Amino acid sequence: MSDSAYGSLYVVATPIGNLDDLSPRAARLLGEAAVIAAEDTRHSARLLRHLGLERPMLSLHEHNEAARVAQLAERLVAGDDVVLISDAGTPLICDPGFVLVRELRHAGHRIVPVPGPCALVAGLCAAGLPTDRFTFIGFLPAKSAARRSRLEGLAARDETLVCYESPHRIRDTLDDIVSVLGERRVVLARELTKTFETFLDGSAAALLARMQEDPDQARGEFVVMIAGAPPKEEHEQTTLEADQLLAAALAEGVGVKQAAALAARLLGGTKKSWYARAQTLKDGG
Ligand code: SAM
Repeated sequence: MSDSAYGSLYVVATPIGNLDDLSPRAARLLGEAAVIAAEDTRHSARLLRHLGLERPMLSLHEHNEAARVAQLAERLVAGDDVVLISDAGTPLICDPGFVLVRELRHAGHRIVPVPGPCALVAGLCAAGLPTDRFTFIGFLPAKSAARRSRLEGLAARDETLVCYESPHRIRDTLDDIVSVLGERRVVLARELTKTFETFLDGSAAALLARMQEDPDQARGEFVVMIAGAPPKEEHEQTTLEADQLLAAALAEGVGVKQAAALAARLLGGTKKSWYARAQTLKDGG
């Protein structure tokens, strides 16, 4: 359905802290929109006020997104341009908008990205971890067992891992990274583009110690970036060391489960994989 009389949906990125990061193009489109679909209209009203704009707004969040699709499609058909924004950063990136974009694209509407701030990109471009390949995992599960199991599933990946985390869970998540990934390098980007922007770099255990010393380091919003699994040769070396470690622990009467936990803590990798290796060694393999 491409008809130039129809309006377009503009997916517009807004600041993640520093209001100067809003692009002139984004500001112009916000000012021209027939309607702005916003995750939280009260929150976005502050941004519009800051820009000296007053435009009609409509809420679009996870609970009403599906119901809004037909309504916004009608506006486009009537020739109105619609702007989609979220509370911060790029819509659809851990924010509402996916259902709307999927359905409108399916129906043949014109959808225009207006790029700008995105916390994961801001974190990655200053972290000093490889960015040629990375996996973005959104938010890790809230419960520790599910979180550990997700991390275990990612432990062998050799690209940089990136996730979002809230101040309520940052310590628990770091704890789980210590248990599952051991000494892996982690870079924490906190409060990006804001007054207290901080990058912390080290093992998850070292970052936890830093938060213990200075609880302010656990405040604010976080992008957590984790180095990928070490290259193979290093891993083979690790396996040799692990065999020695596991064999010594077993010889001292330590159980297979505890020996595996020890190896995972000291050498990285998953407890599950070290468990299998410890069992083989115990069985005389
Ligand atoms: N759409 C946003 C984007 O483009 O980055 C992300 C929205 S998601 C609901 C919010 C999460 O993004 C926060 O919990 C935090 O992990 C991360 N985040 C957002 N702003 C941030 C900032 N200024 N500094 C660090 N992390 C931030």
